[in-house]
Amino acid sequence: MKPFKAHPLRYKLIAIMVVVTGLLTFLNLAVQGYFDYQQDIIEVKQHATRHIRSLTFPISEALWDLDLEQLQQLLFSISEDEYIRNIRLTGIDGTLIEANTTLDLEQAGAMFELRYNGRYLGNLSYALDDSVIREHVMSKLAFGLLLNTLEVLVILLVMVTIISKMVTTPLLELLNLSKNINPETSSKIELPKEFEGRQDEISYVAQALQNMNNTSRKAIAAQRKTERKLLHHQSQLKQSIERQTEAYKIQSKLHRILADMSLNILTCDENNVTEVMYSAFEPIGRILDIDRLSILTIDGNTATFSYAWRSDGTRNPLSGGFNTENMPFLQRRLLSLEPIIIDNIEALKESANNEYQMLKAQNVASIAVFPLIDGKSVFGLLTASTLCSPRIWPDTQKTILSRLSTTVSELHIRLKNHREMTALQNELIEANRRLHIAAETDELTGLPNRRPFMSELIHSLESLYVSTVTIMMIDVDHFKPYNDTYGHVQGDFALRYISQALRQVLSPCGHLVARIGGEEFCALLVNVSQQESMLLAQRMRQEVEKLNIPHSSNQPHDIVTISVGMTYQQVDDHQTTSQTLLEQADKALYQAKHQGRNHVSSFEGNV
Ligand code: GH3
Ligand code: MG
Ligand code: MG
Repeated sequence: MKPFKAHPLRYKLIAIMVVVTGLLTFLNLAVQGYFDYQQDIIEVKQHATRHIRSLTFPISEALWDLDLEQLQQLLFSISEDEYIRNIRLTGIDGTLIEANTTLDLEQAGAMFELRYNGRYLGNLSYALDDSVIREHVMSKLAFGLLLNTLEVLVILLVMVTIISKMVTTPLLELLNLSKNINPETSSKIELPKEFEGRQDEISYVAQALQNMNNTSRKAIAAQRKTERKLLHHQSQLKQSIERQTEAYKIQSKLHRILADMSLNILTCDENNVTEVMYSAFEPIGRILDIDRLSILTIDGNTATFSYAWRSDGTRNPLSGGFNTENMPFLQRRLLSLEPIIIDNIEALKESANNEYQMLKAQNVASIAVFPLIDGKSVFGLLTASTLCSPRIWPDTQKTILSRLSTTVSELHIRLKNHREMTALQNELIEANRRLHIAAETDELTGLPNRRPFMSELIHSLESLYVSTVTIMMIDVDHFKPYNDTYGHVQGDFALRYISQALRQVLSPCGHLVARIGGEEFCALLVNVSQQESMLLAQRMRQEVEKLNIPHSSNQPHDIVTISVGMTYQQVDDHQTTSQTLLEQADKALYQAKHQGRNHVSSFEGNV
């Protein structure tokens, strides 16, 4: 801040006053000079007129007398007047006398008629010399100017002194005072004593300055207070945001763990259920600072520990369990299906002594119990406990544990559903298998029927691993008469025995034999030589013989016999059809019948 000086204001005031008073003085003097001049002119004129008029009679007389000398003297006496110039006497007779002649006089004088004895003799004129008047006026003005100047100087001196004392000096003091105003230090300003008694604008300004200082001090103090409060709030807000952010991070982590667990549940089975369970227990237990997380399974009135995670990292379920009938408080509370939160188990001492004793025995200090609900009933409990000291369970922790209990319930329900579905599926598969077998099995003999035989035959003909196929058509000889003789029931028994004999020969070697009609059977042998096939056919025929079932109508054998028609084909070219083979075997059977029955015949005469 540049230092102020009072001089400029003082000089300005002086300059303004000098100019104003100078102008006024000049105006005053000009007006006064003008009027003085006019007045002097009038007075001089009156004086000259009186003076000349007093001489007109002697002049007229001298003119009458033509006394030129006298005239000269008279005019000279007139010209002695310092104001009168250009005196001219013009007689009607041509007389012209001039005196005190000066050229170019501005002020006209006057003209007098000269008469003598009533007769007009001529004129007497003069002019006024105003330069004398002007000098006179000017000298008066010069004196006036001197007086005025002195007067102005005195006034100026007085005014400047007064202004200095009353305005500029107090203003300078206020200036110095204002320099002491420092918003940083907020110091109070004290007005000098001379301002106290004053009741003028300066004192008002001083008071306004003081008020302004006080107001600004208060404003600054309030501002500082607000700033301190703001800083305090800011730091509190920052801490709160940090806490919230940390809490959200933890919540997010916990929700992710639960989400992972839910995902794992989808692919979980009996083998990895434990891993799925502990993979969520471990991080949740650590984050929530829980000493033990357990799952109890409730079956009827028996509660058994299934899983338990401890903060020391162990995972062993607690041994044993308890009878829920002995825990009336727990039973009562579980009816509501709501969580049971016990911040300090000492609270249970009076109202639920059994539960208290059990928890005390397990060193539990505080516990949160969440029912695991399967539909509408409780099938287990999720318990979170602290062992050393009681704790208050915050809502966020209760929410997470509640969600964990829901997820565990989902896992249980899913496994249960999976078990039920697997059982149902197995039952269906078994029923289907039985149906399938029934559909493809001959009820009387237990052998496959025509359908699986035909499908196996077609499959063998198409298979790359099959090079030869042997088809044997087996027919019981004279079976109609057998039925007629021994009855249909006996006939069924005979068919069963025959089928067992056939199976006994073929099945151990993995060959297929099927009942394809009433008393007709068919055998399929793949990758078996013709000779081996013939041997097996003969063995079948012999085994039936060995059954030795009496058959009186089957002469000459008197026992039940079979005839076999066989065909053998290389099937490398895959041109052979099942129909062809069956027809060939049928033809061979026909031959065997014609050859006397109890005979094996090969297609195209092969024996
Ligand atoms: P062939 O030596 O020429 O074969 O004479 P066959 O009497 O055996 O021939 P046919 O075709 O005339 O008779 C077949 C008989 O088989 C007729 C029927 O009584 C009997 N049969 C068919 N299916 C069954 C069955 O399931 N049980 C019993 N008991 N008999 C059956
Ligand atoms: Mg037949
Ligand atoms: Mg027959």
